[in-house]
Amino acid sequence: MRFGLYHCNATFIGEWCPKCGKSAASIDAERRAREAKPISSEMVSTTNDLPGYRVIAALGVVAANTVRATGPMSQIGAVFKEMLGGTVHSYVAAVDEAQQEVVLALRTKASVLGANAVVGLRMTFAAGGEASHYVQVSAFGTAVITEVAKGE
Ligand SMILES: [Zn+2]
Repeated sequence: MRFGLYHCNATFIGEWCPKCGKSAASIDAERRAREAKPISSEMVSTTNDLPGYRVIAALGVVAANTVRATGPMSQIGAVFKEMLGGTVHSYVAAVDEAQQEVVLALRTKASVLGANAVVGLRMTFAAGGEASHYVQVSAFGTAVITEVAKGE
């Protein structure tokens, strides 16, 4: 038994937290992800390259998802907009926030992998539930290591 490992205010049994069942390794990975600084937002590209940089290594696909509830008031608003037409601002806000959240998560995951850029960013959007009670936004891209391109 390893000594001094705690999680959920419980002492580990072997390599496992007896309360939540997580392993020491996964708790470690979670901590690294929490403490990781996301790569900067200008290092994310929807194209396969980044102007001014050369891709020197690909570290694999990174993906992030979020599902955001739209809330009962926005659903009432949406019902009126359905009848009258027009932009459902509360839904737009929910999608905007979800989009920012997944891109930030993607930048953090790329950073944890040791990448300094994400290229080929793609996003998918979906609404679900009765009367679209939630919006889902997924983002994925390729985490890469780039260096500044000189003399090209
Ligand atoms: Zn635990």
